[in-house]
Amino acid sequence: MINLFVSITKRTSVKMKGLILCIILLAVVVGFAAGRYFKTPHTQKGDDWESRKFGDTYIVSVKNHKELVSALTDFVKNERITAGTISGIGAVNRAVLRFFDPATKQYVDKTFEGQMEITNLTGNISTMDGKEYLHLHITLGNGAYQGIAGHLLSADISGAGEFSVQSFPFARLERTFSPEVGLNFYDFDK
Ligand code: FE
Repeated sequence: MINLFVSITKRTSVKMKGLILCIILLAVVVGFAAGRYFKTPHTQKGDDWESRKFGDTYIVSVKNHKELVSALTDFVKNERITAGTISGIGAVNRAVLRFFDPATKQYVDKTFEGQMEITNLTGNISTMDGKEYLHLHITLGNGAYQGIAGHLLSADISGAGEFSVQSFPFARLERTFSPEVGLNFYDFDK
């Protein structure tokens, strides 16, 4: 075996040896990077949240009694996420929801108090004027097993806040205000 290796080495030109060495080094570097990226948990901690990264997906836990929208915004800012999606469950004891009336282009905000389950939170991440922009909708279930739903402005976690954030790395997804409609739309020309 050793003799075979020696004979191959002798017959291989310097150029070829260099190329083989480069390929081996590249394989080691790529393997190491892939191993770190996919296998090693990447844990981050903010004042109001903790997260662990798996590939391009983050599992985010928002701490008890913390305001949910500001905590998620702080997380997105911290991880420099410019485009992505958010989903999650948990519980809150106060929530401010917003309803947009297209006829008047006016927002109607309403506060709900009491213990409520987050039966679903769905949202997306983009930017507006280069600043992080979270568009979040929520469905809450109260003690009478009734649903409350709307655009989420703010909510206080009361128990757990468990979210999954899918990041689209290096993506650019800007918004522009539409005066005709009164909403901030995706602007794919930006
Ligand atoms: Fe909305």
